[in-house]
Amino acid sequence: TGLQQLITARVRSVPDYPTPGVVFRDITPLLSDGTAFSAVVGHLADTFGGEVDTVAGVEARGFLLAAPLAAVLGCSLVAVRKAGKLPPPVLRTNYHLEYGEASIELSEGAVAAGARVAVLDDVLATGGTAAATCELLERAGATVTGLGFLIELAALRGREQLIGRVVHPLVSY
Ligand code: 5GP
Repeated sequence: TGLQQLITARVRSVPDYPTPGVVFRDITPLLSDGTAFSAVVGHLADTFGGEVDTVAGVEARGFLLAAPLAAVLGCSLVAVRKAGKLPPPVLRTNYHLEYGEASIELSEGAVAAGARVAVLDDVLATGGTAAATCELLERAGATVTGLGFLIELAALRGREQLIGRVVHPLVSY
């Protein structure tokens, strides 16, 4: 589609970053183009509008998508953060990365029990971050109605961590 072309033309592929053998997808050119970014936010609003109360953004680039989406929809916005950034009390979960472990946190009380939540991030890679985010939100009593990503790296099979969930990538590589 036109939107997919708009995105793929504005994603820079950086070989061997952050480690040798990895191709990093850099969304900086997309953010630089106000028309393209506006179209992306409009598409996300069409996708999630009417079915969510809250938009959750995953640190850090997920914030860039979640915030304008929440503002357009008039929804509440919640930040899912890397461990150690939020004041207590927090809910925390640990998850596995390709190499090593990571932790993310959610402020207690930031999400209303029963809230219907859309989770937003720039890239779905192995799915560990997204699955951990859903777990945290559900521990807080929320319902994850869907997940939105600019880019799915399909070869990394992140959807296997998200079985039974509704996943909306704008483009898939
Ligand atoms: P996962 O947990 O799915 O393996 O990794 C997803 C997280 O890492 C996301 O928060 C995403 O921002 C980041 N990430 C992983 N690979 C890339 C990439 O190629 N480009 C960008 N922009 N982010 C990535």
